[in-house]
Amino acid sequence: MAIEKTLLDEIKGEVVLPNNPDYKKAIARWATNAERKAKVVVFVKDADDIGKALQYAKQEGLSVAVRGGGHNAAGASSVEGGLIVDLSRHLNKVRIDANAKLGYVGGGSVWRTVDEEAMKHGLATVGGTVNHTGVGGLTLGGGYGWLTNRHGLAADNLRQATVVTADGSILTASSKENEDLFFAIRGGGGNFGVITEFVYQLHPQRSTVFAGPVIYAPDSLKKIIEITNRWWPNAGENEAMCQVATVDPEGRPIFVLLMFYNGSESEGRDAYKEFLDVGPIIDLAKEIPFEDLNAMQNAQSGPGRGAYLKGIKQKAPDFASTLKVLIQAGEISQNQNFFPSIIYEYFPLSKVNAVPIDATAFRRELSPNILLTFAWDGEEEKTQEARATAQKLVDILIEGQKGLSKTEQSGYTNYDTDAALLDVGYTAGNGDRAKLAFSSNYPKLQIIKKKYDPENVFNRWFPIIPAV
Ligand SMILES: Cc1cc2nc3c(=O)[nH]c(=O)nc-3n(C[C@H](O)[C@H](O)[C@H](O)COP(=O)(O)OP(=O)(O)OC[C@H]3O[C@@H](n4cnc5c(N)ncnc54)[C@H](O)[C@@H]3O)c2cc1C
Repeated sequence: MAIEKTLLDEIKGEVVLPNNPDYKKAIARWATNAERKAKVVVFVKDADDIGKALQYAKQEGLSVAVRGGGHNAAGASSVEGGLIVDLSRHLNKVRIDANAKLGYVGGGSVWRTVDEEAMKHGLATVGGTVNHTGVGGLTLGGGYGWLTNRHGLAADNLRQATVVTADGSILTASSKENEDLFFAIRGGGGNFGVITEFVYQLHPQRSTVFAGPVIYAPDSLKKIIEITNRWWPNAGENEAMCQVATVDPEGRPIFVLLMFYNGSESEGRDAYKEFLDVGPIIDLAKEIPFEDLNAMQNAQSGPGRGAYLKGIKQKAPDFASTLKVLIQAGEISQNQNFFPSIIYEYFPLSKVNAVPIDATAFRRELSPNILLTFAWDGEEEKTQEARATAQKLVDILIEGQKGLSKTEQSGYTNYDTDAALLDVGYTAGNGDRAKLAFSSNYPKLQIIKKKYDPENVFNRWFPIIPAV
């Protein structure tokens, strides 16, 4: 009997079905709880393959998810019983045009490749602080990094993208072509199509920087927060820091300053002298090659664990709430077997906020991010428990941050594990979440969504409800 041919047979890349030995790997994600059992995974080779995969999904009535780096802890690149367009295997190359200072980056690349290729020419752009994260989700959702102080968001450095839309059209989005689409993909996530190539502005970058963890005991916290309150409003364009309330390998609370100075070790130690004079218990900061900067957190941020992420914003460094959170981190680690980290991100925001709010889809706010992460080992499904635990800490943080608006309380979109609570499909409730995520830009995004994805095919991450 002849086997009926489908569009999948015309695809140049690999098609992986549940009976394939590669299937488990094909649906694996950075966070184990973000995995869903897809019906078919397509490792696409080019835009034409993407068009065919989308057409096949439509014919078969399958929901679609797109995978870049696979790091979204909400499961935004996974879909139960649906079709995955996976860009990571073939669309992962980076080409640098050093004369034009542009990086041509495959939609399924990770930041490590961008950092390494660009630095061969003494160039860099704003990338994620953990270099195995995908360029795709991070850029489309905004993208903060160590160079945000100098060059804004990853999305602000996007000059052009090639987008395959829901009907299979291959479009260029830039300030000159399809400007509405270009507006939408800089912060609006994967709502508008599949990006096969991102083109980033690159900037001259010195070859070494001062960076690394400096670890303090809880009794140093009061002084650290006092210094932070003086330092942060005046932090210069070479400075940035993440402060992390977390635990040591024995589960005891520690406060870690991940320092970054875009200069030599002596310049960095000078800039952070007040912090260093407090007397850390361990000081591992040193001068490192720039391309190692986004690798310094790789060891603690590896794949294959359960994870819950939650973001909120902060008005000002606050001792009382930070101390409570730090003590709680120790208790949570001891009693609940979570590895907790509450990360206060101090990336100076003047470049981010120099871009007008209505110039891109990204919701720009004056306040920096706090990211809460709860990781766990083993098969046990602990997402609900992690969500409830995170909420207790969020309540403490809100208490210490008087005047946080509702959008600020909802945090940075890419840190939201509830971005894709969508196994139920898109609903009015999800629309409310998208309204919060995009704030004043939401009505414009609804009009653009109607133009490029009227049937809401791309609905895995803060799905925007098309305008009527
Ligand atoms: C360890 C770790 C470190 C992080 N560090 C940072 C950081 O420093 N700065 C920061 O801003 N954020 C950071 N994040 C958050 C990060 O931005 C999000 O998790 C983001 O979704 C990851 O993108 P991805 O491509 O790896 O994920 P995926 O799970 O593959 O994709 C996420 C979303 O983007 C869509 N998508 C991805 N690629 C494409 C594409 N080419 N075309 C269309 N849609 C696409 C997917 O469909 C999905 O909706 C971090 C997350 C983790 C887990």
